[in-house]
Amino acid sequence: MTAAAAVARRAELAERLAEVRGRIVAACRLAGRDPESVTLIVVTKTFPAADTLALMELGVQHVGESRDQQARVKAAEVAAALKPTAPDLAQREPPLCWHFVGQLQRNKLKSILSYSDVLQAVDRPQLVAPLAVAAQSRGEPVSVLLQVELAENSAVTDPARAGIAPDRLLELAELVAAQPQLRLRGLMAVAPRGISPERPFAHLAELSAQVRQVYPQATWLSAGMSADLEAAVRNGATHVRVGGAILGNRPRLG
Ligand SMILES: *Cc1c(COP(=O)(O)O)cnc(C)c1O
Repeated sequence: MTAAAAVARRAELAERLAEVRGRIVAACRLAGRDPESVTLIVVTKTFPAADTLALMELGVQHVGESRDQQARVKAAEVAAALKPTAPDLAQREPPLCWHFVGQLQRNKLKSILSYSDVLQAVDRPQLVAPLAVAAQSRGEPVSVLLQVELAENSAVTDPARAGIAPDRLLELAELVAAQPQLRLRGLMAVAPRGISPERPFAHLAELSAQVRQVYPQATWLSAGMSADLEAAVRNGATHVRVGGAILGNRPRLG
């Protein structure tokens, strides 16, 4: 990228980021919530490390990735670029927080854990034991969200929107909570396609309350993306995951 193109890209990101932050603030006002209670995760999947660096300079604290192969390389590129060019950002406390929002494959867990701070999509009991083993080499436990299925007819679910069935959620929570290497933080979901997100997100809020009765530490609720963050904020989301509205149209994932 030429220097001029980099400047233009940065300006574009700054503008869209401000727009999304404005949407979050407006949604919080309408819901009578403190805007500080909603964390913005910018989903940078498919975009280059240069965008992640520009977003950091614009004050972004949380990024989301969904493909291990890409994300691992990008995390290393970001770390390497920061030291010489932006030592103040390299030292920033807290450092950039990497959320893995994609589906977890067992054979990739070790790699994913090497750069991720939060795993948002723990969606099945079979993952828990291998995850705990893979997390053992870390200095501190990894934060975990349980991805919940919100489609009422799971036959029409697409895999990226799937998750644990609501009636098995507490069982999965129990398994995660029992592992000292895993820190149960809360729930995550993607609204089903093609219907209003209001009811699914209201259902998610109920499930979150149920889980919190047993696991009071599970306070995070990750819901809402570019198209539906307002509905998510209305229904108690503490984390929104926004990609396209900030970065633009994504190239197709390979
Ligand atoms: C890609 C992705 C997002 C961001 O979606 P946008 O519609 O681009 O905002 C959020 N959550 C998950 C799980 C994703 O895979």
